[in-house]
Amino acid sequence: MLYSSLHNRSAKVSFREAVIRGLAPDKGLYYPDKISPLDKDIISGMATLSNEAISYHAISQFVEGEIPEAVLSEIISETLDFPFPLVEIAENIYSLELFHGPTMAFKDVGACFMARCLGYFKKGSATPKLTVLVATSGDTGGAVANGFLGVEGVEVVILFPSGRVSDIQERQLTTLEQNIKALEVKGTFDDCQAMVKKAFLDNDLKEEIQLTSANSINIARWLPQMFYYFFAYKQLLQLKNEDPLVVSVPSGNFGNICAGMVAHQLGLPIEHFIASTNINDTVPQYLETGIYEPKASVSTISNAMDVGDPSNFVRIRKLVNNDIHKLKTLFSSHSFTDKETKKAMKLLFKRYRYIADPHGCVGYLGLETYRKEHPETVGVFLETAHPVKFIDVVESTLKTKVTLPGQIAKLMNRKKKSILIRDYLGLKNFLLQSI
Ligand SMILES: *Cc1c(COP(=O)(O)O)cnc(C)c1O
Repeated sequence: MLYSSLHNRSAKVSFREAVIRGLAPDKGLYYPDKISPLDKDIISGMATLSNEAISYHAISQFVEGEIPEAVLSEIISETLDFPFPLVEIAENIYSLELFHGPTMAFKDVGACFMARCLGYFKKGSATPKLTVLVATSGDTGGAVANGFLGVEGVEVVILFPSGRVSDIQERQLTTLEQNIKALEVKGTFDDCQAMVKKAFLDNDLKEEIQLTSANSINIARWLPQMFYYFFAYKQLLQLKNEDPLVVSVPSGNFGNICAGMVAHQLGLPIEHFIASTNINDTVPQYLETGIYEPKASVSTISNAMDVGDPSNFVRIRKLVNNDIHKLKTLFSSHSFTDKETKKAMKLLFKRYRYIADPHGCVGYLGLETYRKEHPETVGVFLETAHPVKFIDVVESTLKTKVTLPGQIAKLMNRKKKSILIRDYLGLKNFLLQSI
């Protein structure tokens, strides 16, 4: 498979090169040249296939010829080392829980898959180590740290804004050691991200170290997210529920939902996608007005979706050849306030005894909005994080205690370790000295 830059000003590259580069030299996102539907028998027979077998079918054309079959199978089984249950909330409303992985957010799958692919590409190679540099506002850092822990030939440097990530998130970033380094930045998430961008453009660094990023623009983090949609469909087949399937995805950078739309191109029968957002509503506004107008992001209680200019939206536009009318037949988008989100959280708890995190609640709201007009459908919302990751807002909204799952409890007595940096020079010196 070859990948082209969506800016069309760089050469086509292989999967391997696209993963190592992250972004194309012309700063465009990579996009596969061709997406071929799967054999219909695979899709209709999914009820009896393992998650690993389904995922292998889904991803193999994108990796074709660049990772041997046996290695790819092993990467997939290491990535899918936990369950993805479809939980019934009410009649024809389900939550697909994506938070049973090591850091309890759905980003574990993409981070782990990407780490294993890079580990394979770097193994035994004579070139110097690869350094993954990533800025995090919370969930990405933990998933990346965990996914890359112990991967040979790869160093990971994570920048996080001091005092602005939750205690649990900070522990997930700072207690791992080995090839993972956490840098605590005196500043905001935007400052962290600006430093990362500057580092990628820094010629002194380019001479000394090979840098790449691990955010959702990387195809090895983006594409494996399509597995979730197959898992939802598989479980509905097992339940013999054949109503038209609609999926609501809590969206920030729109990588997850875009991967779902790739699954749809592979032939997965999803009738409609709902991109549910918080008040960062650039995409819902675009569908309404036809004008795409990026904005500065606004803080909300579903903070992993506080994005004013979603980086993967260009891939969605590419998927429908930039045809907004075609897009609207398959995709709608709704935005919700924090107040509405908390109200949904209370309703889910009181009426159905289900505790959802703020992101899942936004997904639920989008689903309800769409199903009011389309009641004949079966609706799935993606629950992208465990409620414990947002324990303060969940406990204060529901006036109940959330129990700490094992993955989190064991972090509580580990020692946090990070290096404080004040400005870009601090980052640059750290990279030059330590790597
Ligand atoms: C990252 C994240 C999202 C948003 O996913 P995108 O692919 O960026 O749209 C939603 N929920 C949680 C919990 C996240 O961590």
